[in-house]
Formats: sequence, C-alpha cells, structure tokens
Amino acid sequence: MTINFAPCFCCSDRPFNLCCEPILQDHAKATVPEVLMRSRYTAYVLKNETYLLATWAPSTRPGALLLEESTTKWLGLEIIASTEVVPESDTGEVEFKARFIEGDQLYTMHEKSRFIRHSGLWYYLDGTCEIDKQKVARNGHCPCGSGKKFKRCCLQITS
Ligand SMILES: [Zn+2]
Ligand SMILES: [Zn+2]
Repeated sequence: MTINFAPCFCCSDRPFNLCCEPILQDHAKATVPEVLMRSRYTAYVLKNETYLLATWAPSTRPGALLLEESTTKWLGLEIIASTEVVPESDTGEVEFKARFIEGDQLYTMHEKSRFIRHSGLWYYLDGTCEIDKQKVARNGHCPCGSGKKFKRCCLQITS
C-alpha cells in the first residue's frame, strides 16, 4: 500500500500517515478542533462511518449516516478560521469550505462547526451551513482538476 505516502485527503499538504491517519486510529490524538475537523472530512472521503459517529457529540449524533450508499465525490477542504483553544475552554469553532460533486452539480458548503470537549476528547457538536450549488457543463473541465471533460470524469449519471 502506497496510500500512506500520498497527500492527505484533507488538503493539508502533509502525507496521510502524518496527518489524518493517526487521528482516525486514535481519537485522543485530535487535541484541537481543527485537527478533529480535518480527520472527520477525511473520514467522509473514506466513508469511515464508525469514526464519524464516534467523534460526534452524543446529544446531536445521528443514528446512521448511510455513507455506503452515498455517491458524493469530495473535492477538497479549505479551513478558513479556527478558534484557538485555551486549556480551560471546552468549546471551539472551525469555519471551513468543502466542495463536492453529486450527480451533475458542484456543491460548495461553507460551514461553521462547533466542537465540544468532553473528558479530554473533542467531539463535533453541530454547525451552521450554507450550501451553494452549480450545474457543471458536461463538456466543460471537470471541477476535480483532472483536466478531463466532466462527462468523462466525475459526472455521475443518475436515473
Ligand atoms: Zn489530513
Ligand atoms: Zn473529475
């Protein structure tokens, strides 16, 4: 497996094995909300539902995410701001943008996520989100940056 040396899915420009992989294996290594946020984005890309549920605050945690059935193709994460965490604070916020394709639409979500610390571990609590959606031309360049036409790359033909 060479996946470990590939750049991390969370767009940190660091290798996966030095970025989100250790976090996915040990929740306690997410010592600040931004690190948890990045690892949760990566978990969405990898459809790691177990990790996403385990790092979700019990009070807002959904029963299931059904990621196996999802056709979402994640294109990237951009962290815009994250609160600096002081030792005595058990809350934090991370503002980010994430892009993904579903069907023939490009979505850009802009979310402010809230995180809480419980018994020393950070959890995702909730967030306010704006989603922008844009139809992508079949013959245009694919938004994933492959240089291919959209119809020959990430376009998903549905129904
Ligand atoms: Zn990462
Ligand atoms: Zn593509």
